[in-house]
Amino acid sequence: MIKVGIDPHSGFCGGVIRAIGTAEDFLARGSSPLYSLGAMVHNEEELSRLAGRGLVTVSLPQAVALAPGSTVIIRAHGEPPSTYDALHRAGVSVLDCTCPVVLRLQKQIREASERSAVVIFGKIGHPEVLGLVGQTSGRAIVVESLEGLREALENGSIPPDGSIELFSQTTKSPEEYARVSSALSARAGERLRVHDTVCAQVSSRHRQLSEFAREHDVVVFVAGESSSNGKVLYELCRSVNPRSHLIGKAEDLRPEWFSNAGTAGVCGATSTPRWLLEQVARAIENLH
Ligand code: SF4
Repeated sequence: MIKVGIDPHSGFCGGVIRAIGTAEDFLARGSSPLYSLGAMVHNEEELSRLAGRGLVTVSLPQAVALAPGSTVIIRAHGEPPSTYDALHRAGVSVLDCTCPVVLRLQKQIREASERSAVVIFGKIGHPEVLGLVGQTSGRAIVVESLEGLREALENGSIPPDGSIELFSQTTKSPEEYARVSSALSARAGERLRVHDTVCAQVSSRHRQLSEFAREHDVVVFVAGESSSNGKVLYELCRSVNPRSHLIGKAEDLRPEWFSNAGTAGVCGATSTPRWLLEQVARAIENLH
């Protein structure tokens, strides 16, 4: 029989646990509906569980059209100042669950933009990144990759003179961020100041996950399709263990993945709920 282990460090990060706990406490009181501005977490299974408890996901245009006095929750990723202004004007109450680590990063970026050009290493259009860019009234330059950095240097989006400060979205890979910062440093030299802003929970998870993936014959990585952190961590697993598979739910498992395997490791992203990892582990055991 195959031995199945769950990575003890996988599952929701502190910011997501806090936001979901706040939403559940509010919903448990049952006094009024709760609207989430955007998906609370990049995981379809957890979203449908929360929807079952009464959480309604809305866009910003939908949120500002709600009846005054309705409650809108801001998720762990945070929002730009313009969102708070729009919600305030619409008369809705805000339950702000921006992760304290993201709030600190927003403040750092806001202050840096008053003295330097700001470059953010992150996913273009990601909600956290939109919230960060909003701190600079849209002036920050977002680069997604080394290629994006090269383009921004060549087309002058990153200015050829003056000071530059570099930040990372909290869930980026620390290794990739190190590569981007050294490439920018090679061009900007002393003009550049690099801020270490990958979330500590994410960077320690990278180290622990590599060990976990190496220790198992087969790795099953569980993440929602929209989780960018999930894609980064899955690639990390695959780089150390080629028998790694990415799934969204237990039904995606294939028995042939486990042929001749003595151990299987189940792990996931910062947006993957623990209950889902446990469900997948049980489903693997039941395949045999
Ligand atoms: S990854 Fe870190 S910074 Fe981002 S929400 Fe989670 S705890 Fe907060």
